[in-house]
Amino acid sequence: MKHAVRHDEAADIRSLLRKISSELQAASSTARLDAEVLVMLACGLDRSGLIKQDHLVPTGDQRRRLDELLARRKQGEPIAYITGVREFWSMELMVSPAVLIPRPETELLVEKALACIPPGAPWTIADLGTGSGAIALAIAAERPHCRVLATDRSPAALDVARANAAKFGLSNIEFRAGDWNAPLAGEALDMVLSNPPYIRSDDPHLQEGDVRFEPQAALDAGADGLEAMRHIARHARQHLKPGGGLWLEHGGDQAGAVRDLLNAHGYRAIVCHRDPAGHERVTGCRA
Ligand code: GLN
Repeated sequence: MKHAVRHDEAADIRSLLRKISSELQAASSTARLDAEVLVMLACGLDRSGLIKQDHLVPTGDQRRRLDELLARRKQGEPIAYITGVREFWSMELMVSPAVLIPRPETELLVEKALACIPPGAPWTIADLGTGSGAIALAIAAERPHCRVLATDRSPAALDVARANAAKFGLSNIEFRAGDWNAPLAGEALDMVLSNPPYIRSDDPHLQEGDVRFEPQAALDAGADGLEAMRHIARHARQHLKPGGGLWLEHGGDQAGAVRDLLNAHGYRAIVCHRDPAGHERVTGCRA
């Protein structure tokens, strides 16, 4: 913060943080953290700078920038869209409103799938509806001998995912435009992964808070919240080798319905795992 001057206690960073976090209480459940992120972004500070220089007063430009960012957050715009990044699997992924913001529960899907992929095995693995590329990138990074095929129907989402793969120098991912499995004709897969939309269209959650800013196509899964899951369960089989794994993230109250669906399509060895909040969140099975 080169241009910051040292005066006017009420306008120093420490006081600003207090003021902003109280202003954000209504819009955010993480008001203090959001305030810190916005101040860091507006003033070009990293976390240690924020702590060490909290006696400084931002310049006029920095204040104006901060006011703009604050107004966006007060409207409910997610912090990840404001900063343009979100951490997933220890990677700072680029995100935009074209993609769902990666969530910690999806790391559980990655963790459980990885446990089934022998290191060094040259598997072909698909991530259906890749969005930011979060799942595909984590798998490609952890299993460099695997070839990962990442699909998405949204070209704008694929641009984000491609940029993320380039950012981490991952060359073992191929991106393909199209619905779910549609761009995978002729591929024999060892594993299929997906975090499809799984929220019911009438769920008020879709109209609340940060989620309003995310692509509805990545969240809304029709009247029963299982439309995408049903499609994937039906079609993944056409591409999976016998014994190949299918791993799905789903809603905390959908484990039974997902199990029934997978059973109905002839999958076996169905297992379900709980997320850190105790919700049954990730189901795996074999073709
Ligand atoms: N877990 C997300 C949410 O509740 C939904 C993610 C999804 O639909 N795939 O906002």
